[in-house]
Amino acid sequence: LLNRTGQGRHFLQIPGPSNTPDRVLRAIDFPTIDHRGPEFANLGLRILQAIKPVFGTTNPVIIYPGSGTGAWEAAMVNTLSPGDRVLMVETGQFATQWKNLAQKLQLQPEFISGDWRTGVNPADIHARLAADPEREIKAVCVVHNETSTGVTSDIASVRAAMDAAKHPALLMVDTISGIGSIAYAHDQWGVDVTIAGSQKGLMLPPGLGFNAISDKAIEASKHAKLPNAYWRWDEIIAANRNGYWPTTPATNLLYGLAEALDMLHEEGLHNVFERHQRHAQATRLAVQAWGLEILCTNPDQYSPVLTAVVMPKRADGTYYDADAFRKLVLGRYNMSLGTGLNKLQGWVFRIGHLGHFNDLMLIGTLGGVEMGLAAAGVPHQRGGVQAAIDYLAKS
Ligand code: PLP
Repeated sequence: LLNRTGQGRHFLQIPGPSNTPDRVLRAIDFPTIDHRGPEFANLGLRILQAIKPVFGTTNPVIIYPGSGTGAWEAAMVNTLSPGDRVLMVETGQFATQWKNLAQKLQLQPEFISGDWRTGVNPADIHARLAADPEREIKAVCVVHNETSTGVTSDIASVRAAMDAAKHPALLMVDTISGIGSIAYAHDQWGVDVTIAGSQKGLMLPPGLGFNAISDKAIEASKHAKLPNAYWRWDEIIAANRNGYWPTTPATNLLYGLAEALDMLHEEGLHNVFERHQRHAQATRLAVQAWGLEILCTNPDQYSPVLTAVVMPKRADGTYYDADAFRKLVLGRYNMSLGTGLNKLQGWVFRIGHLGHFNDLMLIGTLGGVEMGLAAAGVPHQRGGVQAAIDYLAKS
């Protein structure tokens, strides 16, 4: 199927989909059951409880068969009306795709421009909301972990900026690549809709989308006028009370989710988040030791989930080709690294260090990058792997 002849396991080091643990794969392998039968309700109720702490909420978390993009759409069509203004921030490719989706839904996004190397500046949000006395802006939509750039944004500060402007807009946050890897506090941060997906920190294959929702978002959903049917929260919330869904749920992915949630809670969410911070720091030390540049220019915003790396330039000012380098790494070492998306294509590659991941997987990953740089003739200093080992040994 995969046409890979090499021995050993493939290293899937893109920033999602991430490696699925064997425990989760085994769980998904169980026979599909009647999704209207009694056994299913036990599974449903268990999952719907166990997912809440991962989002930092005591409110409902809606689970859809669907990808992250579907969960974006769900967030918007449940809460907004045609022509509504939404304030968004250009942190990178995913923020851009979300803005495009908002346009297709006949919303009016205002896009605060960005350089794709830094996160949301809460002062920008405050300034724009303060200049909206008519309260025309109905939602502020930001990406928590911008997967295209390896930059995180401080959501509590965005909420503080909205509160300082005394603005009633909803706060919507995409943490598709943050959930299960970066500490997240939907309730405490005053987020109204949190959007997530299964294929990254939750360690599942792609195929589930999530909306965590506040009381204010539920209230907004009673008056929203964008057409919606499949994505409607009210029918799902009603069926979820008894552990069911109104339409056929992704039964086997839910088996996997139950297992993945057990794994996250067994390790302890705090430890999961610390593990990601530690691997991210080790990765950055390796990149710095190679003498390469990290795309994110604000160290306070470094992502715990992935590191985007800038290729060095040749004497003529052009970049060494990031995709040729990735191709070589895939062919020789059976490892997939993330490509540079959109305007980052060709000069940036991304190292995913998220989800089901440990010290030796990280060292293998960095080993593949360091060997690949040498084999591709990309100028760098040796010693990145050693720098990571030294850091892991003492931390
Ligand atoms: N938002 C972010 C931050 C993402 O990383 C992704 C996918 O990688 C998406 C949105 C889109 O999600 P999907 O591809 O699952 O539809």
